[in-house]
Amino acid sequence: MKLLFLGTGTSVGIPAIGCACPVCLSGDPRNKRRRASLYLQAAGLHLVVDTPPDFREQMLTFRVPRVDALLFTHPHADHLCGFDDIRRFNEIQESSVPAYGSPETLDAIQRFFHYVNRKPQSGVSYPRVSFKPVTGPFEIGAVRVTPLDVEHAQVRTFGYRFDAGGRALAYIPDCHTLTDAALAALKGLDVMILDGLRPAPHPTHLTVAQSTALLRRIGARQSFLTHIAHQVEHAAVQASLPPGIDLPYDGLELEL
Ligand SMILES: [Zn+2]
Ligand SMILES: [Zn+2]
Ligand SMILES: [Zn+2]
Repeated sequence: MKLLFLGTGTSVGIPAIGCACPVCLSGDPRNKRRRASLYLQAAGLHLVVDTPPDFREQMLTFRVPRVDALLFTHPHADHLCGFDDIRRFNEIQESSVPAYGSPETLDAIQRFFHYVNRKPQSGVSYPRVSFKPVTGPFEIGAVRVTPLDVEHAQVRTFGYRFDAGGRALAYIPDCHTLTDAALAALKGLDVMILDGLRPAPHPTHLTVAQSTALLRRIGARQSFLTHIAHQVEHAAVQASLPPGIDLPYDGLELEL
């Protein structure tokens, strides 16, 4: 199993438009964060979690050659609005792309992108996906996927656990509270990636300290924060984290 962080930033991306704070002006590439998304290669499949507004640029920069399945965490715009560019993969793969998510999330996608799956006409093409409503654990080829219901905002929000070839990874980019049921599903992980927005409290996200405490409790072999805001300077916050818990950066790749 191989994973790549396509984006590690919060909803506005870092730098934030019009901001002159030291992180937004920083020359350290680790302080530049696209919107949160994950690329996973497992059991011969290419999986992408969420299609943020930076999706096209992420696919180009990190040379994602195909997408065998999309998985959606929730329908907030920072996880969805690059969706239209799935059209390129429709062309390359000459097929629609399976799209997994909660029934609520898939309904929201069809409202946002009301033209999805329309027949191409007079040179205009539309994104084509086969919607796969998720109501429990499922398989994509030899990858076992477990949806994790988490509390984030007023919308139903999933994280996902992936098991393949004896390795396990879980990804929860947007979360305010982890329920006991979600925590119980996070045992025996090689990698755990969890929302860790910023030092100050937020009504719908975990702080760096809250996330770090949860990551310690979960006890994966390697742990990462994500969905990071501009109040987090990479080198300074990285130095403050306990061993085994790290700040990722866009393009960070791991072989499990
Ligand atoms: Zn988000
Ligand atoms: Zn800033
Ligand atoms: Zn969100």
